[in-house]
Amino acid sequence: MNEINVIGGGLAGVEAAWQAAETGAKVRLYEMRPVAQTPAHRTDKLAEIVCSNSLKSDEVGSAPYLLKEELRRGKSLVMEVAAQTRVPAGAALAVDRGRFSELITERIENHPHIELIREEIKTIPHDEITIIATGPLTSEALTVEIMKMTGDDQLYFYDAIAPIVAADSIDMNIAFKAARYGKGGDDYINCPMDRAQYETFYNELINAKSVPLKRFEETHWFESCLPIEEIARRGVDTLRFGPMKPKGLPLPATGREPYAAVQLRQEDLMADAYSLVGFQNHLKYGEQERVLKLIPGMENADFLQFGQIHRNTFINSPQILDATLQTKKNPKLFFAGQITGVEGYIESVGTGWLAGLNAARILRDEAMLVAPPTSAIGALCRYVSNVETKNFQPVNITFGLLAEAPLELRKKYRNKRERHNIQVELALRDWDEWISRIDKSSVASV
Ligand SMILES: Cc1cc2nc3c(=O)[nH]c(=O)nc-3n(C[C@H](O)[C@H](O)[C@H](O)COP(=O)(O)OP(=O)(O)OC[C@H]3O[C@@H](n4cnc5c(N)ncnc54)[C@H](O)[C@@H]3O)c2cc1C
Repeated sequence: MNEINVIGGGLAGVEAAWQAAETGAKVRLYEMRPVAQTPAHRTDKLAEIVCSNSLKSDEVGSAPYLLKEELRRGKSLVMEVAAQTRVPAGAALAVDRGRFSELITERIENHPHIELIREEIKTIPHDEITIIATGPLTSEALTVEIMKMTGDDQLYFYDAIAPIVAADSIDMNIAFKAARYGKGGDDYINCPMDRAQYETFYNELINAKSVPLKRFEETHWFESCLPIEEIARRGVDTLRFGPMKPKGLPLPATGREPYAAVQLRQEDLMADAYSLVGFQNHLKYGEQERVLKLIPGMENADFLQFGQIHRNTFINSPQILDATLQTKKNPKLFFAGQITGVEGYIESVGTGWLAGLNAARILRDEAMLVAPPTSAIGALCRYVSNVETKNFQPVNITFGLLAEAPLELRKKYRNKRERHNIQVELALRDWDEWISRIDKSSVASV
């Protein structure tokens, strides 16, 4: 059969469907919204981004940049649309979330080889080429099927999302625009605090009431997405050295750094909404409003979205997947996206990209692709399929995951920044060489 099923029209699913369809393969893309909803999505659009509108750093020489650049060079749909819907965010790549998912939906709907079907898939089609990309909030029926298939206990953990406020409700007589260390213009709004204000805020925060968690005992937070109140509970100064650090944010009036600062990042092209950077939390909504209004400049803040807590579902990939993203038991079955144990929007896109290409290659009876270990996509796939650990945990892309640059180069560049720059350069060289060998010719006639 000359067709591929992609289940889930999120970031990974749309990229997988696009890559496969661009080779000429026929793709059926199943998205359950709006027939069934997830606890976090709000629209029926494909590739809806549910929390921060930042796709992370695009600073040359950083690991998130490398991942994006590989995708750009791999003709990624998501990266193309991200460039078209970009909003100012300093060194980060942030998008207007509404336009972003609208445009992606349009592109998918208009692709001659993709059929978009709005349906919740409840069973796994084992005999057909299928990519499961149903994300951290995979529907319950399918989760049960995946558990049966893997023969494993399903893993859960919880992430928390940051609040968003209306720009015109921030008091700009107190707050000021600036990017940290002047990098990237004045895309952020900063709310400064003196010591007394910080201490009051801190005490109210750690004593505020949280939403009760049904399975609280089983909760283990993902370290890079800790709720603000959990960070605070680790010590009075943890916030000042974490999400509220004032470094590189001098007050315009005095030129001196405040005791602490809250940064807000622009959320959309209209610049009418800002999210509180690093302020994901699981406080009750009333409590969030009360405590966050203690932040100087936010006394009259109008909250467009409160912080929330959500489930994250992922499989025990090292036991289940190969670096090609096929399951070890059934080479026709792939997983992609956050459900594989990568964490983050672009990490999910990267795995979708590879799964889509590989699924199409099965149709042509071609060898499966394994991305170079020096590349970000290669490193992520290697991690999820190979890491030796009893406690498999999702990861963002970092230099720690990449195959190391040759020793003579590491010796030559002692400074971390230089080393990272050279590592990115080498990775992209390998990537270009590898990608030039991938044949994306048509499978339509197979
Ligand atoms: C509340 C929340 C906040 C997050 N915040 C961030 C953040 O700030 N930054 C970040 O980088 N990452 C964040 N993440 C992680 C983020 O979800 C992933 O990075 C990314 O969206 C995963 O892409 P994906 O394609 O794997 O899953 P998704 O984008 O979630 O897409 C999965 C799709 O599958 C559909 N689906 C589910 N089950 C079925 C079924 N049975 N049949 C058909 N369709 C189905 C869903 O409706 C959804 O559209 C957050 C996740 C959540 C849930």
